[in-house]
Amino acid sequence: MKIAAIMCHHCGRKNCVRRHGRARSGLQRYYCSGCGRTFQINYIYQGNEGNILRQIEALSEKGKTQMEICRSLGITAMELDRYLYLISIENKTH
Ligand SMILES: [Zn+2]
Repeated sequence: MKIAAIMCHHCGRKNCVRRHGRARSGLQRYYCSGCGRTFQINYIYQGNEGNILRQIEALSEKGKTQMEICRSLGITAMELDRYLYLISIENKTH
């Protein structure tokens, strides 16, 4: 698997980010030497799966039910649960 450069959630730099242990939730933590801040990320944010998170957010803002979101994105209810969990973590760390 190709490892993409991790972009800092705070300043957007890509070349200053290194691993910084794990959070209690089990997610990988990262430290950005560009802005001196840490953030959490999961592999799921990279590539197309990051887009799915944005689509789920957009659909739920439109008032779609979980079933409708699953159907329009072609994912299972279990996957949606996981995505929603990741979205809630992401919103907390921002
Ligand atoms: Zn940064």
